[in-house]
Amino acid sequence: MTNTLAIEVNNLSKSFKGKPALEKVSCTIFQGEMVALVGASGSGKSTLLRHLNGLHSGDSGSVNIFGTALQTDGKNHSKIRYLRSQIGCIFQQFNLVNRLTVIENVLVGNLSRLSVFSSIFHLFSKEEKLQALAALERVGILEQAYKRASMLSGGQQQRVAIARCLVQGAKIILADEPIASLDPESSRKVMELLVELNQQSGITVVTSLHQIQVVRSYYNRVIALRTGKVMFDGATVELNDAKLKEIYGAAADELVMRGHSDFT
Ligand code: ADP
Ligand code: MG
Repeated sequence: MTNTLAIEVNNLSKSFKGKPALEKVSCTIFQGEMVALVGASGSGKSTLLRHLNGLHSGDSGSVNIFGTALQTDGKNHSKIRYLRSQIGCIFQQFNLVNRLTVIENVLVGNLSRLSVFSSIFHLFSKEEKLQALAALERVGILEQAYKRASMLSGGQQQRVAIARCLVQGAKIILADEPIASLDPESSRKVMELLVELNQQSGITVVTSLHQIQVVRSYYNRVIALRTGKVMFDGATVELNDAKLKEIYGAAADELVMRGHSDFT
């Protein structure tokens, strides 16, 4: 891990229709860290992730990426496009363009607005296609490259999303509940892939999750949110069951998965 700041959030607040979703959230994430964002449903995980790539603008507070301001007090900075190009996103709902092939999805990035094209394959150079194939090989689904995205399992689709981040050259990956719709085996593969990219390529990974067992298996550091406030930020080992109960009360049960014994 280097000492380069990847993500810096200062006193970020956001309300939706007068109801606070984030309240003075501050946190610092260094390049090469792998951080879990936990919290019961509605605690603000997705909202925070969306502020980190500028999809949401805060009411007040700031977000810096690699030392450059992305947003301050609700205003996006001029470098936002460049900063966004360094951030790859993975969502719970797979977010691929179903009627395009896997490799086309890797090539186009997250551009659902490409709906006017029936085929976009010819728009890309040979080098770009080779790069996309290399990324698909790295995530272990090279043999699926020319299938339609809709033919893939959920776990495979998440790996396509990860390949897309690689082709994009993302230095930060924000993953919003990437395994929430997956079976345990696919979940494990996706988690192992994120760990590998973090350890081998130094990609900073921030993942929202609501299963504490998964966090304990894969993450050294965890930030816990409750109703938009940071309640804990530290070593995962310290977020034990007693601490969870202290923070969430009865809602702590929601963070302890049932039926996913593979992760315990
Ligand atoms: P989580 O991802 O932890 O489940 P969210 O960030 O989705 O939580 O939501 C935090 C709070 O903000 C919730 O009360 C939710 O209803 C509200 N919220 C999130 N997004 C919007 C939105 N686009 N419009 C209105 N309210 C929203
Ligand atoms: Mg969410």
